[in-house]
Amino acid sequence: MVKILIINVPFHGHVNPTIAITKELVDRGYKVTYLISEEFREEIALTGASIMLYDYNEKLAMSLKGMRLTMSKIYETALRIGKNYDLIIYEFMFFMGKHLGDTLKKPTIRLISMFAFNKNTINPKNSGKSSFKFKLIQNKLARKIFTQLIIGEEKVKNNDILTEVLENVPELNIVFTSRKFQIHSEQFQRARYKFIGPSIIKRAEKNNIPLNKLKEKVIYISLGTLFNKSLNFFQICLKAFSDVDMSIIMSIGKNVNIKDLGTIPDNFLVYQVVPQLDVLKRTNVFITHGGMNSANEAIYYGVPVITIPQFADQPAVARRLEELGLGIVIDKKNVSVETLKKALNDVLNNSMYKENMKIMSEDMINCGGYKAATTEIEKYIGLNFSIGTKYNTYYT
Ligand code: UDP
Repeated sequence: MVKILIINVPFHGHVNPTIAITKELVDRGYKVTYLISEEFREEIALTGASIMLYDYNEKLAMSLKGMRLTMSKIYETALRIGKNYDLIIYEFMFFMGKHLGDTLKKPTIRLISMFAFNKNTINPKNSGKSSFKFKLIQNKLARKIFTQLIIGEEKVKNNDILTEVLENVPELNIVFTSRKFQIHSEQFQRARYKFIGPSIIKRAEKNNIPLNKLKEKVIYISLGTLFNKSLNFFQICLKAFSDVDMSIIMSIGKNVNIKDLGTIPDNFLVYQVVPQLDVLKRTNVFITHGGMNSANEAIYYGVPVITIPQFADQPAVARRLEELGLGIVIDKKNVSVETLKKALNDVLNNSMYKENMKIMSEDMINCGGYKAATTEIEKYIGLNFSIGTKYNTYYT
């Protein structure tokens, strides 16, 4: 039986969509090991996969220094254990995944938890509004640092991580959104890029929200798990919606202390983390930072959005949501009681948002989710590991 190593970075937005695929691979009889940080041990254990850990210093988190340390830990561990596996599956943010596979002479499959990207989609000059800056490796310093990680200090001038990531593309790429939502989808070959939508599966978290006691209409507010430190933002939300006849579920994350929020109005339910998929099923308007997973999940459940992008690819996700008539964008500099109230009224009173969401939702569900993804992985395995074939033959 083919032995699979899954490699991921220690961030929820990157791990969440891979959980269901991991479990499905285990259920279909594959021997799977998942390389990740301690924080995710329990969650991964529930999939039935074996776990290998690397060190991760959460305090450094998204700083460049922290990323460099984390990436080098992942790379070193993967390089050491990788030879014991037949196939490497990695999440795109582990930029060195394909390089690692080539070094170990192992086939690689990439999982992409943001828009699929190529040199056009990340170049604003080529693609106008529908592009995003791939800050983590387009930034000069970051690019140099990640390049050093894969090829060593002395060769930096001749080799480059960004070129590597853009040009040395694995034969199979699984993207957790739909072709309809993808920007410039025509630039991504159907054979190589499989758009499977979000990986919706019952998650391990406990549902402590009284979902059956909510008012008829529900607003859900979350800035995701990483760029969610703005106490001020959550306080403005408390003010803006204290007098609406709706229930408001607000997920404030682990960086803000509930006690610091001040008085919490009766119609608010505030948590550090909520079971987002269960909540979305009951939500009428989702106020989100526009993380790619949150966007895909909102579309899956057909919930119109007010997007307040914070960082990274989020402005591009927000623009795309607006462009498709799925919601409204508010610049984070313009967030106020007034702008939030106005946006809520606009989204609630214009049925266009709900109708467009319904069409996109049906399409997103039809993408097939984790089952379709696992079937693609099995097809790849079937073609690459039967007698007489060798890897690199999937699409030739
Ligand atoms: N999430 C959740 N509960 C929360 C907040 C977030 O389950 O209270 C999940 C959400 O469903 C999504 C992920 O965490 O799958 C966040 O990913 P996203 O790409 O939206 O944002 P990031 O956290 O990476 O900025």
